[in-house]
Amino acid sequence: MKIISAKFIKSATNPSQYPQGSLPEIAFVGKSNVGKSSLINILVSRKKLAKTSATPGRTQLINFFEINNRISLVDLPGYGYARVPHEIKKNWKPMVENYLYQRKNLKSVVVIFDIRRTPSRDEFSMIRWIEELGISVLIVLTKIDKVSKSSLTKQKKIFVSFFPEKKDDFIVFSAITRVGKEAIWKKVAQNISLSGD
Ligand code: GDP
Repeated sequence: MKIISAKFIKSATNPSQYPQGSLPEIAFVGKSNVGKSSLINILVSRKKLAKTSATPGRTQLINFFEINNRISLVDLPGYGYARVPHEIKKNWKPMVENYLYQRKNLKSVVVIFDIRRTPSRDEFSMIRWIEELGISVLIVLTKIDKVSKSSLTKQKKIFVSFFPEKKDDFIVFSAITRVGKEAIWKKVAQNISLSGD
């Protein structure tokens, strides 16, 4: 995908603050520090559009961006960082669930995992819940530069065993080598029914 423009629109915590509009929307979610900001910045070919966090997990806002005036891109707050205060953690679930449940133009959610981890039961349920809402889920396994080829194959198999029906919907990625960038755009474009890119 050729990026012509990428701009920040606004931050929101509740539905009344979401930007209006009907551009097809794609949201990114993952555990704090998983590499979500790095992934978004690489996808949109901008160094600092999404903020890489100095203090992981503290920014609990839903950030809206617009790409090429055609796609709305949403950076959902990261979850699960141990040092985040309880109050902030407690707010995450309703904020994100409200967004997923209410956002009409949301077409696809990219769920990002560190290739070295395995999904928790909560993450597993979250993915199932999103799919039940009729929203397509794309799973990206990131930081693959940190593992050997053999453990990459092994880890991928573990993820496939969690989500066997999604075995063609896993994309491996590295913010260092940028492998996976085009594959993600291709799937995203399919999921939001864009053509010509
Ligand atoms: P976020 O909290 O999910 O937005 O994560 P960030 O994008 O801020 O990344 C967290 C840390 O992981 C930073 O130190 C990044 O430089 C590093 N990181 C992100 N992606 C990769 C990757 O693909 N490979 C490696 N080796 N490090 C990464």
